[in-house]
Amino acid sequence: MDYLLTETGRNDLEALLKVRSLFAFDFDGTLAKIVRDPPAARMTRPIRVRLEQLAKRAPTAIISGRSVEDLRSRVGTAVPHLIGNHGSEGPHTRQEDIQQVRETSSGWLQLINERFQDELARSGVLVEEKFCSLSFHYRTADHRDEARALISRIVAELSPPPRIVLGKSVVNVMPPTASHKGTALLEYMRRLDCSRALYVGDDETDEDVFALRDARIVTVRIGKKNGSSARYFLKRQAEIAEVLRLLVEGGDKSIHTWSGCHEQGVPQPAQRPKE
Ligand SMILES: [Mg+2]
Repeated sequence: MDYLLTETGRNDLEALLKVRSLFAFDFDGTLAKIVRDPPAARMTRPIRVRLEQLAKRAPTAIISGRSVEDLRSRVGTAVPHLIGNHGSEGPHTRQEDIQQVRETSSGWLQLINERFQDELARSGVLVEEKFCSLSFHYRTADHRDEARALISRIVAELSPPPRIVLGKSVVNVMPPTASHKGTALLEYMRRLDCSRALYVGDDETDEDVFALRDARIVTVRIGKKNGSSARYFLKRQAEIAEVLRLLVEGGDKSIHTWSGCHEQGVPQPAQRPKE
């Protein structure tokens, strides 16, 4: 794992600007600073402005654990491609698949409400329903070990057994058939006809992209971490503003590659890039 803002890293970013690339970002902890109260997460103005400039010039996407509706309320029209629920919600997923995933998720929620509501309230664990997945937040729990133990006990009761992705003070549970951030990114590269991509994230859910170890994708983690599969790291979240600046200014120098980037996720006729 190398620091991105070095000559090698900058060269790798520049290489992305010379071909049709998809620029994809996680939201919390990447475009927006992590805050104690998740509903309060917002992008700073410089990040928002640069992201908007990038999205006008190149295919740009946000792939987040939040629902698409929630993302839309924070991002507005700045970025055309919003993918929610850790990659399982967006125009790339089939209606019947979404329906199945939602039914599984709401069945879990019903069981949780019937059997664990009081214990959850006592321990300070918040269960967030995102239609296609559930998140157990324990950032504000007084006794974090007890909160984690309770969440483990609940998760063990869920049927079918969920895919579990641990985040920062959050346990995400997803129906086993739901697609993840890695599959979503590859699908969007195909749909938007991009031969390369950048992906920046900060969390365990982003390892689904980093672990693809696909040479076409430049992967960046916010915060250096042993065991991460990301190629590069940034030292802190605020550095994403510098990355966006480099991309926007670099892109302006290679104008000929920046055309035709406004398709709204229209499926491309079978042009799957060679794996
Ligand atoms: Mg994140």
